[in-house]
Amino acid sequence: MCAAVEKIVFKFIWRNKTEYIKRKTIIRCVSEGGLNALDFDTINNIFKVNWIKHCLCENNLPWFFIPNLVFKECGGLNFLLACDFKCTKLPIKLSNFHKQALNTWKLLYKHNFSPHSCIIWNNQYVLFKNKNIFWNDWFNKGLIFVTDLLNQSGDLYNYNEFVNYLGTNVSSKEYFKLIHCISPKLLYLIKNEKVYNPVIGSLPSLTVGGHSIRDKKFNNIYIRRILTKEKSSSPKAMVKWKQDYHFLGFKNLWSDINKYVIPNKVKETHFKIINRYYPCNDFISKFKEGFSPLCSFCKEENETIVHLFFSCNYTKLFWSQVSWFVFELFYKFVTITDVMVLFMDCDTGLLEMDKIIKLLILFGKYHIHKARCMSTVPNGRLFSIDLKNFYDSLTSIQNNRKALKTSKLLKRILNVLVT
Ligand SMILES: [Zn+2]
Repeated sequence: MCAAVEKIVFKFIWRNKTEYIKRKTIIRCVSEGGLNALDFDTINNIFKVNWIKHCLCENNLPWFFIPNLVFKECGGLNFLLACDFKCTKLPIKLSNFHKQALNTWKLLYKHNFSPHSCIIWNNQYVLFKNKNIFWNDWFNKGLIFVTDLLNQSGDLYNYNEFVNYLGTNVSSKEYFKLIHCISPKLLYLIKNEKVYNPVIGSLPSLTVGGHSIRDKKFNNIYIRRILTKEKSSSPKAMVKWKQDYHFLGFKNLWSDINKYVIPNKVKETHFKIINRYYPCNDFISKFKEGFSPLCSFCKEENETIVHLFFSCNYTKLFWSQVSWFVFELFYKFVTITDVMVLFMDCDTGLLEMDKIIKLLILFGKYHIHKARCMSTVPNGRLFSIDLKNFYDSLTSIQNNRKALKTSKLLKRILNVLVT
């Protein structure tokens, strides 16, 4: 079900065509190179974690009566969540929904093993007939941690010593049964720790990434960020750009342009370039037999992304024209890193100038793309006319702060371009 809905969403994003970027990358937030796409699996998991949160915080409500009763057999939900349990090995019968909710919690909450705080109950390494154990009367008598079964020298108490230590009577049969359940390796590990570092154990807090599950800040956005972080992967294209041109990272590379009013086609061209799936001839020829990989402008070299948008003689001429506009503003020439990954290696020290160059490069790349589609070559004069037309259309937009901001920057560019 989840996979089917996810397929529909991603088919929509890629317009039923090949997916050139991994889904794990697309779900990342914009500043990390993704598109902030919501995958259905994450939404589903957010609901489950939210349910757990409400069941913990509002457990007096009537609709949590049955879950409370079920989880009580494992010491209550609050205790169970702190245990290192395995859903399939819990000694209670759970509905599918409760199983899924607990599994999602395991996905979110990292159970850091600590010998002092190793809980006996609901522990995946303490098994009886391949199931976790939870003995309510022993739990109520205060027996919680494995360290409670060991004396000062780290050895297991004998039965009488244990009864003395606990201060109350328990059955000897059950005591030996319990000791048998604990894995010898686990006992050995805890024994060493108890001898050299005798600290009293405490229950781990239900905290994920710095916020407690009961916290107000533990909301849907927060849960989504953590879940996405777990399953997402960094953009592959970035590694290649880094190898080739040693630029620093994705930050601001994509999120910056969302601050302005920019046509979607311009954004799309930029996105395809930075993610290295722009359909240049060299790229297409790998999939289509007989297709010429030669450059659309010079027809001499293979049309790779870098060649088309920077190193081709025609493009170089275009960028040098643009560079002169930029140069007149603040003495800076456009470099290959500027073009490919949008102005990463330059810091003019003037915020407005940085923004102007970014816009100029964004529109410049789109101009090259357009020239290629129209079988012409990039031209500085035509570029300035295009920008002027776009500026005119922007000025007709009323009461829009983004549009006003963009048109102000474009005006500065046009003052230089047109004269
Ligand atoms: Zn060329």
